[in-house]
Order: sequence, then structure tokens, then C-alpha cells
Amino acid sequence: MKILAVNAGSSSLKFQLLTMPQETVITSGIVERIGSDYAAFILKVNGEKITMTQPILNHKDAVSLVVDALIKYKAIDSLSEIVGVGHRVVQGGELFKESAIITDEVVEQIRSLNDLAPLHNPANITGIEAFRKALPNVIQVAVFDTTFHQTMSEDAFMYASPYEWYKKYGVRKYGFHGTSHQYVSERAAKILNNPHAKIIVAHLGNGASLCAIKDGKSVDTSMGLTPLEGIPMGTRSGNIDPAVLMLIAAKENKTYGEVLDELNKKSGYLGVSGISNDSRDIIDGMNRGDHRATLAHKIQVKRIADYIGSYYVYMGGLDAICFTAGIGENASEIRRDVLEAVKVLGVTVDPVENEKRGERMISTKDSLVKAFIIPTNEEVMIAREVVKLK
Ligand code: AMP
Repeated sequence: MKILAVNAGSSSLKFQLLTMPQETVITSGIVERIGSDYAAFILKVNGEKITMTQPILNHKDAVSLVVDALIKYKAIDSLSEIVGVGHRVVQGGELFKESAIITDEVVEQIRSLNDLAPLHNPANITGIEAFRKALPNVIQVAVFDTTFHQTMSEDAFMYASPYEWYKKYGVRKYGFHGTSHQYVSERAAKILNNPHAKIIVAHLGNGASLCAIKDGKSVDTSMGLTPLEGIPMGTRSGNIDPAVLMLIAAKENKTYGEVLDELNKKSGYLGVSGISNDSRDIIDGMNRGDHRATLAHKIQVKRIADYIGSYYVYMGGLDAICFTAGIGENASEIRRDVLEAVKVLGVTVDPVENEKRGERMISTKDSLVKAFIIPTNEEVMIAREVVKLK
């Protein structure tokens, strides 16, 4: 059975076609710069990478291009082979405690959450609508970044802000990267052979969040109402005193929206180092002895360790720390320094294993708390949800 997993952004469309339940990838690709004359379509099929640059007006045209290419490059013989499409949707609010089969009503419900994810949900809906038109007889499923965290209890998800803000406007922590946290923690529980394990997943990519998982359920996570909260990221500040908004707006004659934009796009690794948002450049800078690159790294390590310590206490112990996503899977320096920073919790890093790539244990055999690299796979998780609801 062939399932398409789709992730639509405001100007991009990522997809993967998988055979289920074997979970093998037939083809994957991305359309970038949708809306421009120089949109790029990259398709990986049969070990080949095909790149095309052409004008692509909108998501509808991007979807037509993708669908035609799947047939042209023989990923499928006919569209009827695709039995389901899973769409990543960033914000499901409190409306979606599980993935949902997409109907007109579900689209409207997702739209009703646009205020909570103005950068993401409208783009996700555009992708959904384009695929519903292109494949009208195929089941389409919305898989939300937030549902995995809907198991958090009130003390973990509520802010200590006026309660009315929650009642009137849904102001609370929702958390994101749920499919990744779920995939990695399920894999870790399997490796540990313990469905009740206490696990912390550090999803460290361009966006980054931590999640505490107990009995297979998310009990706390670092992102909040939006993906800005939590640890610093490539260009996001993570936690910061909200009074900074007022100060900088006044000093630099900017609106709150403009300052917020800088906290989203000019902070984190980029803002502190002044070099780059990419962890590779930060590590290079650190190795050259650059002060601000070293500082960006040190802040990152401290903030991650802060959360790990707090989750250890909140869960009443810890069985494993798992690293995933671009930085978590590749940057041995970050893993090494984070694990060193939390060694008091009973984790001892194996320096040889930590230098390697791919799924593995990177703590010593006698380490009380285990540490793992577990490559994430959000597309498989989305495809699994489609199969479940089909
Ligand atoms: P993601 O959002 O999961 O795709 O992660 C993207 C980020 O992973 C990039 O911005 C880099 O900072 C980081 N990354 C990717 N490859 C490497 C690598 N080989 N070493 C260190 N960091 C990497």
C-alpha cells in the first residue's frame, strides 16, 4: 500500500511516498520557492536526484507537478496506487487530541486555529486543499505536531498568566515536533524493552525542542504557545523575559511584531554568534577560538541541560536521553557537552560511540541513564497514522 506523507510550508512542499506497512521510501522530494519564477523541484527517485527550475505559481500547480512527476519517473504507474495522503499540520490546539480524517469540517477547524499558528497553519491548509483537489477520492489525514503533547497535565501546560487568557484565547503551552518526539521515544522504549521508561528526547534541528515522556506519553515539552519558547535554536531566542519586547521596541522605534520577528529570525545561534544559524559554523567558530561562537554553544548546552535536569525531577528519574534531528544526529560536540553537563544524573558518555552516526547507544554499558542517537522519521510516523485511520 502506497502512502504519501506531505509537509506544506508557506512557499515549499515536501513529500515522501512510502510503501506501508514495510515503511520503505519509494521516492521523496521538495518544491521550493513556490510563487516565484525560479521555483525548484527536487525529486529523489531510483537513487537519482532530479532537479528542475521553473515558474510555479501556487501550491495547486506544485501538487500537479509532483503528481505528474510520480508517474513520469515511474514511482507509480497510476494515481490509483496512492491509497492515502497524510498531511503534517503544525497546530491542532485542544481540538485535535488525535490525527483526523480530513473533511470540510476538519479543514474549518484547522482554519479556526490560524491565530495560534499564523505562520504555519494557513500554509498547511493550502497543501491540504491542493491535494484534495488533485486526489479527490483518496483518504487524506491531518497529523498534528501538537497531539502527542495533549497528554500533558494542567500544571505542565498552563502558563501562570491570567486564567481568562486561556479561557478566551487558548493561551497555554501546546508544544510541537510531536511526531518526532513520539517516533523517537517509541523507538527508545523498544530498545530499552520498557514501555514505561522515562525518556527525554532532544529534537535538535533548525527548530529545537525537548520532551519528557513517561509510559509512552508526553508529560512536558519545551515549546509553548508557539515554537519560540524553550531552548534557543538556529535563529530563535527560546525563553526570554517578555519585558525585552517593550524595551527594544522603545529603543529601536519598532513595533512588538518587528521585535518578535527578530526573536524568531535573528536570535539563537545566529544572534549570539553573529556568524550563522548552522551548528556546523558554530562548532567551526568554537574550534577557531571565536568568543561569540563559543558563547552560543555554551548557552545552548546550558539551556538544554537545564531542561534535562528539570524533567529528571518532574518525572522522578530518567532511563534515557535521546538525541535526534539535524544537530542531535550529527553534532557530536553538542551531545558530548550536554551529556557532560548532566553527568550528575548518572549518565556517562562513551566518547568513541558518540563520534559515530546512526542509531546507537552513546553511553557506556554501566551508565545508569542511557543515551542514544535515534534518527527521527516524521514521514513514517505520518504514514503510520494514515494506515491507522484508513
Ligand atoms: P533539521 O532542521 O533537523 O534539518 O536540522 C538542520 C540543522 O542540522 C542544520 O541547520 C545544521 O545546524 C545541523 N546539521 C546538519 N548536518 C550537520 C552536521 N553534519 N554537523 C553538525 N550539524 C549539522
